[in-house]
Amino acid sequence: MSNIKLSWYPYTLKLKHPFTISNNSRTTTPDVLVEMEYEGMIGYGEASLPPYLKETQKSVQSFLTQIDLSSFDDKTDLSSVLSGIDNLSPGNNAAKASIDIALHDLVGKIKQLPVYKMYEIPKREVLTSCTIGIDSTEMILNKLKEADNFSYIKVKLGTDDDRKLINTIRTETDKPIFADINQGWKNREEALELTQSFHENNVLLIEQPFRKSNYKDTAWLTARSPIPIIADEAVQRLSDLDNIKDAYSGINIKLMKSTGISEAYKMIIRARQLNLKVMLGCMTETSCAISAAAHLSSLADWVDLDGNILINNDLFNGVKATRGKIIPNDLPGLGINKIAV
Ligand code: MG
Repeated sequence: MSNIKLSWYPYTLKLKHPFTISNNSRTTTPDVLVEMEYEGMIGYGEASLPPYLKETQKSVQSFLTQIDLSSFDDKTDLSSVLSGIDNLSPGNNAAKASIDIALHDLVGKIKQLPVYKMYEIPKREVLTSCTIGIDSTEMILNKLKEADNFSYIKVKLGTDDDRKLINTIRTETDKPIFADINQGWKNREEALELTQSFHENNVLLIEQPFRKSNYKDTAWLTARSPIPIIADEAVQRLSDLDNIKDAYSGINIKLMKSTGISEAYKMIIRARQLNLKVMLGCMTETSCAISAAAHLSSLADWVDLDGNILINNDLFNGVKATRGKIIPNDLPGLGINKIAV
């Protein structure tokens, strides 16, 4: 019996453009890449660690040292392994995601099935948005040209210039917009006024308008807004859904928050039961985690899986929305290959 050999290494994702959101700006994203080798097959996983979250390369690596996969064989039940790992310690969501993603890749390779078939999810091409961070007018217009292949634009807002920025975009394109406020709005009456004006400007949804703890103003805005109000920072895992269900119209699910594919899938099912809309999002990530999310993409109302396009040192060939479209491929597991470096 050959056991799984688990290994990992820190990696720094380099961003094509400095990425600015309402409370933070950066040019790199720390990351940890995971490999699981079993009988000549390798499962790949990844933990992406934007610095505004608590996890670091150090915390991920220290979590990974606790993992014992010595009893794994090709009969092992994936969900029991994942719940064992989840119970090792609270938090560590991205670290847990890296293991979940690598296990899905490996089990898919053992079963010779792409992940979407393991879950019996329909295969369908979906359109993803392209994300534009906070920037100068000139840079925003440049980035819009780069996003020419995309049908949706996602903009980072949450400053005093939100209205001006939407108007700037409207001088260049009338494409539908997802507006991500990243907790930046403070006043609910002003927020409602902006929401109404955005609606008239073909903004389709608002993500995380107020601080994640501000349940009261969010519920007030959601009850009055002409467009859906989506929870991002306010929702990490499955257990959060029942707490926020009355304050938002939907949720943004990201593998790095949800601890991976398995729980993201359960969140989609639960969101539907609660009549919540579903957006599938990402961090800046390589094509490993983006391809993982792509297997779930046909279940979402809106897809924002462009994190691998925003970096210039991807390590994998996989799903890449260079033409604004996402579709999982049919290779076993995640459907990715590591690029030789
Ligand atoms: Mg967001």
